[in-house]
Amino acid sequence: MFTRVLVANRGEIAVRVIRALHELGIEAVAIYSTADKDALHVRLADQAVHVGPPPATDSYLRIPSVIAAATTTGCQAVHPGYGFLAENPAFVEACVDNDLVFVGPPADVMAMMGDKISAKQAMRAAEVPTVPGTEGSTTVSAARAAADEIGFPILLKATAGGGGKGMRLVQLPEELEDAFGMAAAEAEAAFGDATMYVEKALVPARHVEIQVLCDHHGNVLTLGERECSIQRRHQKLIEESPSAALSPEAREAMEAAAERACRAVDYRNAGTFEFLLGPDGSFYFIELNARLQVEHPVTEMCTGIDIVREQLRIAAGEELSVQGRAPRHGHSIEIRLNAEDPEHDFRPSPGRITLFEPPAGPGVRVDTFLETGSVIPPFYDSMVAKLIVWDTDRAAAVARAERALRETNVEGIPTTRDLALAVLGSEPFRSGEYSTSTLEALRAVVA
Ligand code: ADP
Repeated sequence: MFTRVLVANRGEIAVRVIRALHELGIEAVAIYSTADKDALHVRLADQAVHVGPPPATDSYLRIPSVIAAATTTGCQAVHPGYGFLAENPAFVEACVDNDLVFVGPPADVMAMMGDKISAKQAMRAAEVPTVPGTEGSTTVSAARAAADEIGFPILLKATAGGGGKGMRLVQLPEELEDAFGMAAAEAEAAFGDATMYVEKALVPARHVEIQVLCDHHGNVLTLGERECSIQRRHQKLIEESPSAALSPEAREAMEAAAERACRAVDYRNAGTFEFLLGPDGSFYFIELNARLQVEHPVTEMCTGIDIVREQLRIAAGEELSVQGRAPRHGHSIEIRLNAEDPEHDFRPSPGRITLFEPPAGPGVRVDTFLETGSVIPPFYDSMVAKLIVWDTDRAAAVARAERALRETNVEGIPTTRDLALAVLGSEPFRSGEYSTSTLEALRAVVA
């Protein structure tokens, strides 16, 4: 096992990874930008290296600075968290070139999965169902031809997409040209790549994903699903496991598809297969996130498996101690708290936290970097805390989530706390019968 590891991230995920390192008796080296010099992850780490000024492109995304932070402190491995460099194959290669173990999949597998078109091709080859659509990069006229064939509504998507960017729903043929232009421009701005493709829009549908862990000895563990259909602008807000929409047979079909795909692409370390689930029970692959995900704690609560510790063990060459299907029990829900202002269309609301009182009590976990007095810089993600609960069944877990959210007190900035409470209390959430369209429809009522 490693003795010292660089945590190439900030915020709650850096804190999360440092905790796992310490539990394994490994020293943690943090990196930080000037904006984060007083942040919790810097204080929890055994050492911290300043990597640049506040903008991420000058600090957390600067590969030479991050690599130098690892090599000069004598780290053997790098954990990327999620976001920033976590899915950047050039970063993986830079780690390997500098004799650093990257805690994640190899660069070639990551590159194949990062391009959504090649990812879908690989899935089809592994007999995993994919959403009907174009097979390669697409011009406006090719998009029109594809739409005529598969039928409206369609979704225009960026090959390099992520975080819901470069994505447009097109209901009618006359909207296609403008939507294409806007989506391609957004993709160019966000990813430096305007390549687009077309998918049939599956509406209503649910977003259900399967967590996997794969070691370097050919072993695969699937850890069940997470239901992530409560979304705003294609961004997840509340996740839970198990999904009310899956029968045991449907769950096994999805997990078997994920396992098949892992073996077909020789996947390594932690990954998540995202699927859309139609009302008729059919499911379709949309992407493989080749990294740890924000919502991984939901799976940890239900399986008792610490995914970050497993990632580190796998990266160190150890064999998975549990293989096949992870045992699981009970019900877990995660609520993301975003520093966003509900009164101004949820625009980011950075600032100083004048009071932070996290919830406590049975079955409650809080993953955050927030403290009373801490400052949320305007440069990074607006997700600032995750509240995760577990209980023996769904109704109890929902009640526990509501109780814990009511106990949560964040003063100094507006957050999405009250929106989350409204969603938990809503009829669709209570019944478990919701889709990716539910939150937008509900917002007219609750926010
Ligand atoms: P990103 O990588 O930008 O997060 P994804 O491909 O993961 O994009 O999709 C994000 C969300 O967009 C999904 O969870 C779902 O709500 C919606 N979505 C994606 N593809 C489709 C589709 N073909 N039909 C309907 N909704 C979709």
